[in-house]
Amino acid sequence: MNKTIMRKLLALLLAVSLLCGSACAVQAIVIPQNVKNVILLIGDGMGENSLEWTKEAQGVSLFMDTLPYQGYSKTNSLSGLTDSAAGATALSCGLRAFNSNLCECAARVYGHGVVFFNYLNVSEVAKSIGKKAGVVTSDLNTGATPAGFSAHTFRRDQDVDITDQQLAGDLDLIWAHASGLVTPERCAEANWQFADSFESLQALPAGARSFAALNTEIEYAESEAPLSELTTLAIEQLDNDAGFFLMVEGAHIDKNSHGNNAEGMMRAVLEFDKAVENAVEFAKRDGNTIVIVTADHETGGITRDEESGEFVYTSDYHTNVDVPLRLFGSDALVKDGKHVKNVMVGRFIAKQLGYTGRFPQATFNFGFLGELIDALVQHAKEQTAVAA
Ligand SMILES: [Zn+2]
Repeated sequence: MNKTIMRKLLALLLAVSLLCGSACAVQAIVIPQNVKNVILLIGDGMGENSLEWTKEAQGVSLFMDTLPYQGYSKTNSLSGLTDSAAGATALSCGLRAFNSNLCECAARVYGHGVVFFNYLNVSEVAKSIGKKAGVVTSDLNTGATPAGFSAHTFRRDQDVDITDQQLAGDLDLIWAHASGLVTPERCAEANWQFADSFESLQALPAGARSFAALNTEIEYAESEAPLSELTTLAIEQLDNDAGFFLMVEGAHIDKNSHGNNAEGMMRAVLEFDKAVENAVEFAKRDGNTIVIVTADHETGGITRDEESGEFVYTSDYHTNVDVPLRLFGSDALVKDGKHVKNVMVGRFIAKQLGYTGRFPQATFNFGFLGELIDALVQHAKEQTAVAA
């Protein structure tokens, strides 16, 4: 091993020990609560101005605006400007990670993934205390947001690993747009009821463990399986005496804003808003449910143009502007326009569900040194090959 490699190795070890120091210093939150259910709705890429623009252009009001406790979430990841993977990880694990990490803290070393920590997520927390847990998204099952509540991977594009983990995992419900990786045969093997249409979801036996790979569009009001109706159905499926945790994602607020498609973004906001309303209707009837509405980040840099006075897109990517964080059922996380870090959402959920274990929880990966050395050796070999 030459001197340069040795210096890089030492620098990495130092970085890792610093990282360990900060992550391990996170205080455990152990105040037990007695809320039966928590429903978290994530509008991917939904900034405050996504909502303002929708209301102004469509001449409508939004149900989200009536939620009693309102504030903002700060969205940066360990990489700075976040992506949806690190965003989902912060919301589900209560810890920041690097972009592309899903419920792990990992870094790329010469093209290899080196995993420093595994993070516990709120779906696992819910299951560990006897509650049900589910994920509904208008994205594919392998999308970064649903994967952040149902898998652990170094990179968000590890579609096969994500699907394998979801199928082998113990969630009660995963409903998404078809990725082609989830088949009736694989579901039968892993003890899931399979659904590929809205009708087949409606026909599920009550409380069945179900994986949906829907071949129809989900995002909009006129879709064959609209997100708001999936939300209502999912709540009916998960509702049980012990309680549940449900994450619902509206994915196309982000996707449309990446393409600066304002009309599509607004349609996605309106359907997402209806999903929020359906969740809150249930929470009101139930009397023992907290509903949280937020985003992983803003997309499109939507700003009011000073000259025209109209809203416009100023970016085709994510921005780090603080995003809406609104609640029904508890004022303990945010109120009166307060700004909190996104990681507080995951910590709040674990606490409200009554989890008395350590959370957030980052488990040190003792295999990391091996992974690191493998990566360095591989790199050294490649360098030698290039030199020869
Ligand atoms: Zn995005």
